[in-house]
Order: sequence, then C-alpha cells, then structure tokens
Amino acid sequence: MSKLRENIEAVRARLRLAADRSGQNHVQLVAVTKTVPVATIGEAIQLGLTSLGENRLQEALPKVEMYPAVDWHFIGRLQTNKVKDVVGRFNLIHSLDRWKLAEALHKQAEELDKPVSVLVQVNIAGESQKGGLPPAQLQEFLREAAALPGLRVEGLMTVPPYEEDAERVRPYFREMNRLFHSFHIPGVKMNILSMGMTHDFIVAVEEGANLVRIGSAIFGERI
Ligand SMILES: *Cc1c(COP(=O)(O)O)cnc(C)c1O
Repeated sequence: MSKLRENIEAVRARLRLAADRSGQNHVQLVAVTKTVPVATIGEAIQLGLTSLGENRLQEALPKVEMYPAVDWHFIGRLQTNKVKDVVGRFNLIHSLDRWKLAEALHKQAEELDKPVSVLVQVNIAGESQKGGLPPAQLQEFLREAAALPGLRVEGLMTVPPYEEDAERVRPYFREMNRLFHSFHIPGVKMNILSMGMTHDFIVAVEEGANLVRIGSAIFGERI
C-alpha cells in the first residue's frame, strides 16, 4: 500500500473514532495541499479525497486550474485586491476576518451573480500575530454581514495557539463550539465549525468541529 493511501486511511479511521465519541455522524475532511506538488494532489484525488484546501493564492491558482472538479477551500489570509481571483474558484472561504473583506467579497459575488460562501475566522486566544475577529466583535459583525446578500455566512473557523500537548487547546475549541451555538441571526447559517489540524484534530472533533483541515498527517511533514 502506498504511503499516501496509508496516511489517508489512518486519518479517516482516527476521524471516525473521534466523530463517534462526539456523537457526530459526519465530519468533513479538507486535505490541505499547500507545498504539495500537483502530481501528488492527482494521486490524492484518485485515492478519494474530494475537498482540498490552500492558504496561498499564488500557489493555489495553477492547482485549481489543473483540478477544477475538486471542492476547493481557501483557508489563508486573503487580501482585498485578490478577491476576484478567489470568488468562483473556491467553494468556501474560511478566512473572512474584517469588514473591508466582507464588502469586497460581496461586491464580487454580486458581479458574478452568485453568492460566495464564507466562514468567519475567530481569533479565539487573542493572539496579536493571527488573523480573525475577537469573539466580542462577532455578534455585530455577523449581523452586518447578514445584510450583504452576496455573502453566505456558513459558520466559524479558528486556528488556536499551537500547543505540543493538544489537550491544552481543548478550552479554546470548547469556547468556539459555545460561540458557534450562541448566534441566532436571520440570514446567518451556523452549519460549519472549521477547526482542527494535524496535531489537534482529535480534540477539535471531540469538542464539536464538523470540518477539519489536515495537511501533514496526510502528505507528510512540510519542509
Ligand atoms: C497549513 C494549514 C492547515 C493544515 O496544517 P497541518 O498541521 O499540516 O495539518 C490547516 N489550516 C490552516 C489555516 C493552515 O494554514
């Protein structure tokens, strides 16, 4: 069995166990292909991966062009002037983190006459170097975003602090899940809670994540 196939099967098995433990019947796997060569991506698609994520637009564009049938997710910081390259190519943008970007996405969506699906990124631990809205601003932001018809808010996303011991990020995931269930705003759907990466996805799923973004556990360590 190829290493890639072995990795995918191992991740799927661990994911299933964690989902069972948390009482969820489906957790979506988005395989993160940043730095992964196109040939390997082709192999991964053949092995059954259907949803792929990229965090840098320049790197992502040729991959999207090569594999247009994939369910592509944009998971990285997005500059306002790059919005036109993202809308229409990616099915879900995980990183809406400021009003200017919301407006730009809305405008582009209107132009294409097709709403753009987004997750609002939350800076759950208040880390200065990281993107995401402070939890205290979420309510107001979601209300205002709901008034932009080009924008379809589908849920929340976070990247918590890195901790060697993933147990230590559990409180952040738990707080995200609480937030996820606390908003009831017309026009805002809370369907997707995107959290959990290679080193912490088990804990994230146990705390309610229904979409995980996994790179190195599938494709190997990035160098
Ligand atoms: C790279 C990346 C991931 C995947 O990270 P791994 O630790 O390799 O699983 C997930 N989410 C975001 C936003 C990323 O940039």
